Amino acid sequence: MAVDSILSSPLGPPACEKDAKKLQYIEEMTRNADAVQENVLAEILSRNSHTEYLKEFNLDGATDRETFKSKLPIVTYEDLQPLIQRIANGDRSPILSAQPVSEFLTSSGTSAGERKLMPTIKEELDRRQLLYSLLMPVMSLYVKGLNKGKGLYFLFVKSETKTPGGLLARPVLTSYYKSDHFKTRPYDPYNVYTSPNEAILCADSFQSMYTQMLCGLYEREQVLRVGAVFASGLIRAIRFLQLNWPQLTQDIQTGSLNSKVTDPAIRECMTGYLRPDPELAEFIAKECAKENWEGIITRIWPNTKYLDVIVTGAMAQYIPTLDYYSGGLPLACTMYASSECYFGLNLNPMCKPSEVSYTIMPNMAYFEFLPHEPNLVGVTSPPELVDLVNVEIGKEYELVITTYAGLYRYRVGDILRVTGFHNSAPQFHFVRRKNVLLSIDSDKTDEAELQTAVENASLLLREFNTSVVEYTSYADTKTIPGHYVIYWELLAKDLSNSPNNEVLNQCCLAMEESLNSVYRQGRVADNSIGPLEIRVVKNGTFEELMDYAISRGASINQYKVPRCVSFTPIMELLDSRVISTHFSPSAPQWNLQRRR
Ligand code: AMP
Repeated sequence: MAVDSILSSPLGPPACEKDAKKLQYIEEMTRNADAVQENVLAEILSRNSHTEYLKEFNLDGATDRETFKSKLPIVTYEDLQPLIQRIANGDRSPILSAQPVSEFLTSSGTSAGERKLMPTIKEELDRRQLLYSLLMPVMSLYVKGLNKGKGLYFLFVKSETKTPGGLLARPVLTSYYKSDHFKTRPYDPYNVYTSPNEAILCADSFQSMYTQMLCGLYEREQVLRVGAVFASGLIRAIRFLQLNWPQLTQDIQTGSLNSKVTDPAIRECMTGYLRPDPELAEFIAKECAKENWEGIITRIWPNTKYLDVIVTGAMAQYIPTLDYYSGGLPLACTMYASSECYFGLNLNPMCKPSEVSYTIMPNMAYFEFLPHEPNLVGVTSPPELVDLVNVEIGKEYELVITTYAGLYRYRVGDILRVTGFHNSAPQFHFVRRKNVLLSIDSDKTDEAELQTAVENASLLLREFNTSVVEYTSYADTKTIPGHYVIYWELLAKDLSNSPNNEVLNQCCLAMEESLNSVYRQGRVADNSIGPLEIRVVKNGTFEELMDYAISRGASINQYKVPRCVSFTPIMELLDSRVISTHFSPSAPQWNLQRRR
């Protein structure tokens, strides 16, 4: 097959022979998606046949789909939690997977307020790296010359902890950046970053960001793409520049390194980097001192061809801000992944964010799809799960995975809609994650958590004979970092003793104390979420909200107060009725060591 027919691209052939191989690999996997899936399942089941979990379901060595589907239940994290806890406590017997669990990956999803612990095995790193290795060959079909410059990527490791049994528990990207796969990666002209490993691997987020930004500024002319994992991370980097440019430009002016950067590995590696460059310092200072930061990314990094950040799902709320700072550069969402498993990639990464579809790579895990039909009432038997190649265009499904690391028929919680196929592999639009009401960064707050937080906070109002009669919420991403806004309508029975500002500020903090550990980590350790705000609205506001919904066709009998709002007219109505605003006066508790 001719290499230029490997992927239909408006731009033509692969950039090089190595890319051609990778593109061919994508072709093979997607053409034979069903057979690959069958093999993946057989391999997972045969190598794990003696695990405690599989033995319980009496597969008796069967590795075919029919037996698998008839004998194994569909599960959630909560179902597996007791087994996972045993592994975390040090039980090394083959419970879920035959291969030893090498570490736990801490998901941003939570269970009972704590991060979920996903068991993983060593070889999963190879699978993740394989998916990464496909990204640039695909991107190079659409953007030429990416080997002629560098990527300014803001990448961070986060704090890690140990389980009682001594296994590491840390986010998947922290695990990847600390692995030899990343640290000792061979030179690849398409994957040269401005950030030195020493900066990426520094756990102190200020020192890490400062150094990465400094290196990015020094190499401003070479930078061809600017990115972070999620949109919120890139916006935080811009905010960092806004706050720290005087010191950064002073360092460039003098060729020295801010004394706040104390990490010895960074200081050592930066000696080779630093040089006085007064002209560059003056240029950056002049740009940053301007009142208007519109298009700052292209002003400082003029050769940037696109921003590499995920803006699908909850991150879509950041698109206007990124457009503003970048002057409308293309936003490339390249991959879809999770702590449980990496799923797939976007074969058309320069498309509009609203059109992004991810092609699931059939060799990453065994994938099944639970038809998602929220409007179906009165159906007793659960719907049958559909195999990867049998999903239907236009339909929505919940993703269910069986992984090499020992998750079997596990509900990820993501809702996907099929938009098309690449060969026989379906492509999915990420619709949303189930039950997520509010999200700023990697935090995910559901309706029940918000309800509990409101209840706990409103206990402080008791002595004032005041109660919260209605509430709703909103993720305010206009502030940097973004923050949760909760609208409260209060009923005060004793107007001579109503709660004052100080009490309502404490209510904000009480809500934060009740939210899950990922939220609190974002507030305390990562600084990725700002203080929670309560906006008290006039009495009768929520009735007006109902009137508005009914005027737009909602049924009066079925009307429920939305617990999260984003529709502009509703926000305007709420904001026009605000009588006071209150912020959390301090950060909530967050204890890294707190591990069940
Ligand atoms: P975590 O388990 O913390 O790694 O989070 C994984 C979750 O992040 C996925 O299950 C999705 O809900 C979300 N996610 C990951 N990649 C994307 C993407 N490209 N677009 C939208 N959401 C994503």
